[in-house]
Amino acid sequence: MKNYDTVIIGGGASGILAGIYLNDPHSIILEKNNILGKKLLITGGGRCNITNNSTLKEYINSYYNSGNYFRPAFNRFFNKDIIELLEDNGCKTKVEDDNRVFPVTNKSKTVLNTLINILDNKKTQYKLNCNVNSITRNDNQFIIDYNNTCISANNIILATGGLSYPETGSTGDGKRFAVALGHKNTKNMGGLSPIKIEETWINKLQGITLPVKLEFKANNKSIVKDSGSIVFTHNGISGFVIMNNSMTIERHLRKNKEVILNMDVTPDYTYESLYKTLQDDFQKHPTQGLKRYIHKYLPKNMVEIFLEQINIDQTTKLNQVTKKDRVKIRDSLKRIRLTVVDVLENESQVTNSGIKRKEISPDTCESKIVPHLYIVGELIEGCGICGGYNLQKAFSTGVLAATSIKSRR
Ligand SMILES: Cc1cc2nc3c(=O)[nH]c(=O)nc-3n(C[C@H](O)[C@H](O)[C@H](O)COP(=O)(O)OP(=O)(O)OC[C@H]3O[C@@H](n4cnc5c(N)ncnc54)[C@H](O)[C@@H]3O)c2cc1C
Repeated sequence: MKNYDTVIIGGGASGILAGIYLNDPHSIILEKNNILGKKLLITGGGRCNITNNSTLKEYINSYYNSGNYFRPAFNRFFNKDIIELLEDNGCKTKVEDDNRVFPVTNKSKTVLNTLINILDNKKTQYKLNCNVNSITRNDNQFIIDYNNTCISANNIILATGGLSYPETGSTGDGKRFAVALGHKNTKNMGGLSPIKIEETWINKLQGITLPVKLEFKANNKSIVKDSGSIVFTHNGISGFVIMNNSMTIERHLRKNKEVILNMDVTPDYTYESLYKTLQDDFQKHPTQGLKRYIHKYLPKNMVEIFLEQINIDQTTKLNQVTKKDRVKIRDSLKRIRLTVVDVLENESQVTNSGIKRKEISPDTCESKIVPHLYIVGELIEGCGICGGYNLQKAFSTGVLAATSIKSRR
């Protein structure tokens, strides 16, 4: 049986970085797909939001309650390090809104090809189309069974990702392997998910994006106040501001609470300033049609549905709008009330659950249960918010595991 020093299972973001930093001819990456980094290709809408250019302090606050855990990984390999690695190898990057970092080409393929080129120039080998079936421990070695072949390893880096978008290869195998080796099983929980809304009229708004201020209430008690851009989907609402808060919403839904979303689609106005603007505009342009006028506040293809929803005839001229309807228009622009019925876990971008953090050393990524087993990337419990934080977690933990293995040799 062929023996390796380290076998990395999974050639995604974390596995590739681990391979690069191991730089070892006696180590190998086994990837089940016929390419490395299949998920990386679909990140950031195909543009790959590589990392976030914010400070370590902001990072610590961007992983819900797990940020501090990742501090040693970020100290080992941070945003500037992945940017430098890519730039030094020909992938130029740029910083966009909210410090999000993208390749200048706007193509995730550039990022992936650059990482594969770097890996090709390192000593770590990789093998595609290798679906690892099981890992067992035998004396001081691991036995890895893939494609009816067995190899042994002194160390394993489990880099198999979570459960989101299983068509990219992340089907939860890593958790199954870790549990079989002695780790605790955990309930699957997605992170960064869209939400499903009861009111079906919003389905007609599919594809429309708009900036909003929003408040979620559970049993009438405020649970989230936030603002950002949302996008209507075929059955609900998505967008960073929704996905970042989806776990809080889910917690309340699981407790059978009634969750209501109040959306302010005119966040730049107060109730008073909006009313005054409506009053002034209605006086200034008495013969203008209401439908055309409301476009001042809403995307064109949303106006008709909005007016229909609040029962006001879209052909009304501004001088025909009654005071009661003016108040209704203001109130509806300031507060669209929707009922949240579900958090769409099967559409979540990351998995929040995974191997429990307390079972993995934050300083090395080595399992505290199984010596020489290293757990990295999305497989570690605790996801980040949108904005490049999840890939950075994968890169940082992949590098930390690799350098920890090297330093113990
Ligand atoms: C649609 C979408 C968009 C996203 N956009 C962004 C973004 O822009 N920025 C960001 O920071 N994060 C983004 N994320 C999250 C980010 O992609 C993941 O958190 C990150 O890829 C996790 O890296 P990983 O190495 O842990 O797992 P993965 O990248 O999922 O890699 C795991 C690899 O292991 C392989 N594998 C699994 N089981 C086996 C097995 N039994 N044998 C062999 N190989 C196996 C898989 O085939 C896969 O290639 C996005 C996620 C999705 C779904």
